[in-house]
Amino acid sequence: MRNELLSWFGREGLLLTHVLSAMDDPEHDEIKISVRAPLLALSRASHDFRECPDPVLFGYPESSLDMMNLDDMNQFVLIWFERAVEANMARCFVCNQLLSMREEDKPWDAIFVTQDLYCWLLVHFDCKRYLKRDLKGRNPFEVDVQPPEFFDLRLT
Ligand SMILES: [Zn+2]
Repeated sequence: MRNELLSWFGREGLLLTHVLSAMDDPEHDEIKISVRAPLLALSRASHDFRECPDPVLFGYPESSLDMMNLDDMNQFVLIWFERAVEANMARCFVCNQLLSMREEDKPWDAIFVTQDLYCWLLVHFDCKRYLKRDLKGRNPFEVDVQPPEFFDLRLT
């Protein structure tokens, strides 16, 4: 992840830090600090977590991060998710059903979770009430994160 995006998350107060002291290795009394930016989840499966896409790498102007707030980022992430849904890659975080953009299918929403971990995910309206249960015990520092797919985000 580019430092510019990392700083943006820092500015918005959305970075999590994890401090690891060398308790079991007294020879090296260094402290390891790792930082984690918010994630995206295409489903609840461990291989479906993605790093947050960087708006600049998706064609936004270099200076756009300076002007973006969290609402703008939500909007950007939603467009990325819509492409993932169109590509049949996104599932409801609760019931694991494949999501679609078709109107006759169950409606879903992109949600930014801020409890325990910072994560955008997709969930059916009807499944939202079970979300808390399914998020319980997730440690952002134990999640294996892949880089995001490069969908074409231009309006068609
Ligand atoms: Zn669902």
